[in-house]
This record gives sequence, C-alpha cells and structure tokens, in this order.
Amino acid sequence: MSELHRFLFDGQPVRGAIVRLTDAWTDILRRRKDNTTSAQYPESVTQLLGEMAAAGVLMQSGIKFNGALVLQIFGDGPVKLAVAEVQSDLSLRATATLKGQVPEATGLGALVNVNGGGRCAITLDPKDKFPGQQPYQGVVPLVDAQGCNLDRLSDVLSHYMLQSEQLDATLVLAANDHVAAGLLVQRMPVKGESNIAGGAAQRDEEDQIGRNEDYNRIATLAASLTRDELLTLDVETILRRLFWQEPLLRFEPQQGEQGPRFACTCSRERVGRMLHSLGVDEIESILAEQGQIDVACEYCGQPYRFDLVDATQIFAAPVMAHTVAPGAVQ
Ligand SMILES: [Zn+2]
Repeated sequence: MSELHRFLFDGQPVRGAIVRLTDAWTDILRRRKDNTTSAQYPESVTQLLGEMAAAGVLMQSGIKFNGALVLQIFGDGPVKLAVAEVQSDLSLRATATLKGQVPEATGLGALVNVNGGGRCAITLDPKDKFPGQQPYQGVVPLVDAQGCNLDRLSDVLSHYMLQSEQLDATLVLAANDHVAAGLLVQRMPVKGESNIAGGAAQRDEEDQIGRNEDYNRIATLAASLTRDELLTLDVETILRRLFWQEPLLRFEPQQGEQGPRFACTCSRERVGRMLHSLGVDEIESILAEQGQIDVACEYCGQPYRFDLVDATQIFAAPVMAHTVAPGAVQ
C-alpha cells in the first residue's frame, strides 16, 4: 500500500518525510497502458514521472494549503509535458505527453532539456478560489545557480525550495515501474509556518542558509541514501539505517484513504471547457470529419463522447469558468 511517513528531529530545526507510492503508482501506469489513445511509457519516462509524483506528495505534505500542488515540466525534447498533481488529501494523478523517439537515457538533459529550453513550474491552485484569484505559480529553468544544466529532478526541486522558501532542502527521488519513492529533509523555518509561495518571514531565513549544523549533518545522512535502497528497502529500514543516532519524532503514517492514492478530477464539464477553448471552427471541423468527438482523459483514460448536440451546447452556454488551454492544469 502507498504510504507517507513524516517525522521531526527532536530538538533540532529539521523535519523530514518519506513517501513510497506502490499501488497509487502502478494504477497510474496501468491506466496509461490501457488507454487506447496513448502508449505505455518508456522506462526513462516512467522514472521521470514517478519521481515527479513522489516529489509532489513530499512538497504537498510540507505546506499548509488547501488545493492542488501541480508539478509541471515543459520540455524541449521528446517529453513535451510531464505533470504530477497532488491534492491536499494526498490523492494524485500524473501524465506525460511524448513526441517522437524517446531515448533510453534517463535524466532531464535527454528527456526535457535537450536544447536548454526546459522549464519546471510549481503551481499552487487553491480549492476555493475567490473571484478573479489566480493560482500561484513559480517557474524555474533546469539550471543551478551557476547556470549549469541540472540532470536530476531532485536537484531542480531542492534548488527551487531553497529559493522560494529560503529553507535548505535535500531530496532523494527514484522510480521504476513498481515503486515511486522519495525522501525529503528540510530545515524548518525560524519563525512561523513554512510557505512554498514565500512570505514576509523569508528575510529571517536567508541568514540561516547552509549554516545550521544539525541540518547539515542530517542532510549528509539523507543524501547518502542510494536510489536502489530507496526503491527496495521498506521505510522502517531506511529510517533506521540513515538516522539511528538521531532522535526521531514520528507522526502517524498516512496510508489507505488517508495516504497517497490515485484519483482523477476529470469531468464531462471540464472536458467541455477544454473543447470550448479549441474554438468553434476546430470543433466543427472534427465533427464534420468524424461525426462526433471522442476524448479520453489523459490521466485516467475515462472516455468522453460529444456529438453535434453536445457540441452545440458547449458553445451556446455562457462561459462561467475560465477556459483551459490544452495541456494546462485542468
Ligand atoms: Zn480523468
């Protein structure tokens, strides 16, 4: 069963979390495989998307926020778009859009940053938006502070967390076609709550970056975890091996209905909004050619069919909500 374990280091300004996605992850891969309009992911994409899903759960678990945390990578290589979306209740979904031949080589450089144009976006989309409220979004290039390309997602995201929250973070991520897993340790804010979208307390944190000895020691231990260990060992073994000399305070593990699990938020109405955004000409041309429009949700594979009458309704009805571009957060 998929599980999330959160913990604190007693008396030290450091917290951590470890996630193992098993059924939640294989569910996502199986739906992709069964989807007649897409193809099974190559191994390299499975690894990237699994790491994004695990990272999304870890990042969502560390913030006080009611809504979706969406990790997106806009690629300039064979992976055009990869998305992992995690709700506050830890339900999640993920998908990737591929183009052309996908190499066996793993890493961001081969998949999404071939010409240095890849970008990673972290979006916090509140569940109950007030009118006109836009989701918070941070966009980061896939490079380090010196401008060198980063090949590992874990480095991109820890760099992002350091910049956005002014808090040191260490991430280890790994995924294969059975497990997607991650370990995060993060220095805790000096004052108040951590907030991934930044805040007034940030200035107080800047002075602390890289200087906390407790964090530095724990981060070194965390970084010694290999991808193979992360994929094959159970959570108890990993925590014992890494932190046996540290005073850990454990929270109740989150699993089952309280834990990370697959769920899709697609609906006929949302698909209708997506079709609306394509424009009436495009929709008429598909209808003229095929007599109907068949769409399968790219996350869960759920089929949706719109005939001429349905399509007319889409364009006749006043547009209440914002329109959604294809591939954008839905
Ligand atoms: Zn769906």
